[in-house]
Amino acid sequence: MRYDVVIIGGAIVGSSIAYYLREEGFSGSIALVERDPQFAHAATTLSCASIRQQFSIPENIRLSQFTLKLFRRLTAEFGADADIGFREGGYLILAGENGLPILKANHEAQIAEGADIVLEDADALVRRFPWLSAEGITAGAYGRSGEGWFDAHAMLMLFRKALRETNIDFVTADVTGIERQGDRVTSVNLDNGERLEAGIVVNAAGPNAGKVSAMAGLVLPVEPRKRNVFIFEAREKYADMPLLVDPSGIYVRPEGSVYITGGAEPQEGDGPADPGDFEPDWPLFEEVIWPVLATRIPAFEAIKPTRAWAGHYDYNTLDQNAVIGPHPQVRNFLFANGFSGHGLQQAPAVGKALAELIVHGGYRTVDCAAFGYSRVAEGRAFRELNVI
Ligand SMILES: Cc1cc2nc3c(=O)[nH]c(=O)nc-3n(C[C@H](O)[C@H](O)[C@H](O)COP(=O)(O)OP(=O)(O)OC[C@H]3O[C@@H](n4cnc5c(N)ncnc54)[C@H](O)[C@@H]3O)c2cc1C
Repeated sequence: MRYDVVIIGGAIVGSSIAYYLREEGFSGSIALVERDPQFAHAATTLSCASIRQQFSIPENIRLSQFTLKLFRRLTAEFGADADIGFREGGYLILAGENGLPILKANHEAQIAEGADIVLEDADALVRRFPWLSAEGITAGAYGRSGEGWFDAHAMLMLFRKALRETNIDFVTADVTGIERQGDRVTSVNLDNGERLEAGIVVNAAGPNAGKVSAMAGLVLPVEPRKRNVFIFEAREKYADMPLLVDPSGIYVRPEGSVYITGGAEPQEGDGPADPGDFEPDWPLFEEVIWPVLATRIPAFEAIKPTRAWAGHYDYNTLDQNAVIGPHPQVRNFLFANGFSGHGLQQAPAVGKALAELIVHGGYRTVDCAAFGYSRVAEGRAFRELNVI
């Protein structure tokens, strides 16, 4: 079997690339290879499904803004019944005295990109959100619009459903090897013994992207990092509550009638996860998260944890930013990896960008050149400071 494009990984990034290839008029053959067709372990479906403008670098803000525009014209793009439950509840990123210079610098970058973010001091924040305790807080940046959360599974299904109406081969298999002849990848080997010859291979393997790159003999500093998400009930319902990020890194937001929280993984000992470990670390909630929540939102002293899950970040150990585009020598091997916790909201933009690159030979809508692989080869970090 021979395909013009073989995409490894069929979750949000892989599906988005396939979708935009067809949108850009690509008429060649496409195989979308996925080993876990229910997406039980994909980062996409285990994510917190939130979108923000509050990044430190303009390039990341622009990727999210592309997706935001898509969310606002979802029915025009995917049909009248398209709905991902987008709730524009905003982010509120809090800082103490130490974090203030970074918060301010980030805010300036966001404003320059046209994001609707206000920077307020602690008093103003408590007036705006009376349930908040400003203990240890100097200021916060609040997204009045353009930020919020949605249903990740519904978003994935929109792309997958749209793909079913195009001529794409959905292949259910595990990619176990990639063959290379000199500066070209030539084929992809599957666990069922089949071999797909490929004109272009796209790595959209999420947390497994480092291993998939290694199959082609290419180094990619992306590894799975375990992240826990906890659900709890509280008597008080704060309809105006944004996704709040405490200076400790712990975040919390409403999810329907309950709340969702996480972000307490200690930096020390945070290394590559066992790819099969999806067991939530409950002590993290009891010992680390709950005390912070109760300090920041006093009404959360009395809460009832109900459920938890763990997923894996597609963590780029170099700079916690995406790697997008071709390998400089092996130019028919393309990366769409290393999103480090913000890939869901970037996937539509990245799909569009890579489709433009393949079809037109360059980026047209969102310039992803800064995310190119050359920085990995040179060990030059292109760092995002707002990694949640
Ligand atoms: C707890 C958590 C919270 C998050 N919160 C957010 C958030 O709020 N906002 C946000 O934007 N992002 C968030 N993210 C990050 C986001 O989920 C990811 O960056 C994004 O989903 C990456 O999409 P992907 O398609 O590249 O990877 P995945 O969704 O992991 O998909 C990769 C796919 O490739 C398949 N695959 C891998 N290897 C092979 C192989 N060898 N052969 C065949 N198939 C293969 C896998 O089965 C998988 O389905 C979060 C992630 C986690 C874990």
